[in-house]
Amino acid sequence: MTAMHPLPSPRVGAPGRIVIVGHGIAGLTAGDTLRREGFSGELTVIGQEPHDPYSRPALSKAMLGDLSTPSPGVVTEVEAQYLAAPSADATVHAGRSAVGLDPEARTVLLDDGGVLAYDGLVIASGARARCFTDSPDEYTLRGLDDARALRQRLADRPAVTVIGGGPLGMEVASAAREAGCEVTLVHRGQPMRRHVGDVLAGLCTSAARDRGLHLVDASVTRVRRDAPAGGLDIELSTGGTLRAEVVVSAIGDDPNDEWLADSGLLTDGRLLIDDWGVVAPGVVAAGDVAWRRSGPGIQRRALWTDAIEQAKVAAAALLHGRSASPVSYAPYFWTEQFGLNLRICGEVPAEVTPTVVDGDLAESRAVLQWEGPTQGGAAAAVNFRIPIPKLRRLARPAPAAA
Ligand SMILES: Cc1cc2nc3c(=O)[nH]c(=O)nc-3n(C[C@H](O)[C@H](O)[C@H](O)COP(=O)(O)OP(=O)(O)OC[C@H]3O[C@@H](n4cnc5c(N)ncnc54)[C@H](O)[C@@H]3O)c2cc1C
Repeated sequence: MTAMHPLPSPRVGAPGRIVIVGHGIAGLTAGDTLRREGFSGELTVIGQEPHDPYSRPALSKAMLGDLSTPSPGVVTEVEAQYLAAPSADATVHAGRSAVGLDPEARTVLLDDGGVLAYDGLVIASGARARCFTDSPDEYTLRGLDDARALRQRLADRPAVTVIGGGPLGMEVASAAREAGCEVTLVHRGQPMRRHVGDVLAGLCTSAARDRGLHLVDASVTRVRRDAPAGGLDIELSTGGTLRAEVVVSAIGDDPNDEWLADSGLLTDGRLLIDDWGVVAPGVVAAGDVAWRRSGPGIQRRALWTDAIEQAKVAAAALLHGRSASPVSYAPYFWTEQFGLNLRICGEVPAEVTPTVVDGDLAESRAVLQWEGPTQGGAAAAVNFRIPIPKLRRLARPAPAAA
């Protein structure tokens, strides 16, 4: 059972200091929610990236889609569309990192030696991309600077090897093909299957092949720099080696929780939140950094909507305690790749064949509905305009028979 912590001190309308660590969507949503819920005290946001907030999902979609105006170091017109206004009415320390936390003293230590006292703390420090090497020929895509660097490199039309066939790997592969690169994607099993189930994964894979993606079914055991020749050698579980000019690794992420190592707040090395986002007295967390109990295990779902919904609940709990509503939402996820725009509500049961509610899957334009054996329903729109609330209604599990 989740331990119940006494709830934090800041009160609606009363003076108080809330610190938010993390300048991504979870941190911004928490800040907006605190103000909307009536918090009128001092709000301070610490954000490691020096940039104004931007849309992370756009990095692998629109931002890689237009390579005609690469201008590294400058916010291009394309990028500007995805830069959001800074959170209102907060002191933002962009380019600063939290490096330590003392929950007893209620202080956050900053990388410039500064110490920030708080009455309430929101931990929203997100996650970072995993990689194999420190080679300049291996790219990852997590932040705006990564996207700028990759845009610039793709504009030279190198041969690209993408490692990882989840949504991020497939989106990058799609953009690289679009840019005119030869693209190989290495993934054990069928790309996208874990995320969207058999039927949609089949659709993604055939759309990718139709657009010239070369798929290699293997795991990568090691990536080595080849110093004399340049480039990288990718060693495969099947025994072979692939030579690569440019590698993009899309092999998952690790939570940014090192700064909490001595705080006593990590459980088995993980930052665990309850259904209100509460970690400890006066401390809540949300987004990619946080783990939640799910059935007998714990999980960390690194998705945009999860970050937003968790942040709203955590911010409300910081002000109102557990009289605020606990987290409760149906998962929502989208991806754009190889001419497919997929939007999915609920968790797709991988092996169940969906009902086609509208359109025609053979034409890659359809609305699909699943009735899951255990976890309720799911619904998906494939290149189909349908309001999200309607898609959510389709995903709701049918009421149990009386
Ligand atoms: C390229 C890409 C495409 C994606 N596309 C989709 C999509 O289509 N659909 C979807 O549902 N999800 C998508 N996601 C996932 C989604 O973007 C994330 O789940 C979401 O952005 C998580 O938000 P967050 O605020 O928790 O973390 P982050 O966005 O990682 O923000 C955390 C911020 O905290 C900062 N930080 C870290 N450590 C510290 C510290 N010690 N002190 C201060 N600041 C710190 C980081 O620099 C970062 O700016 C995508 C992710 C990526 C990388």
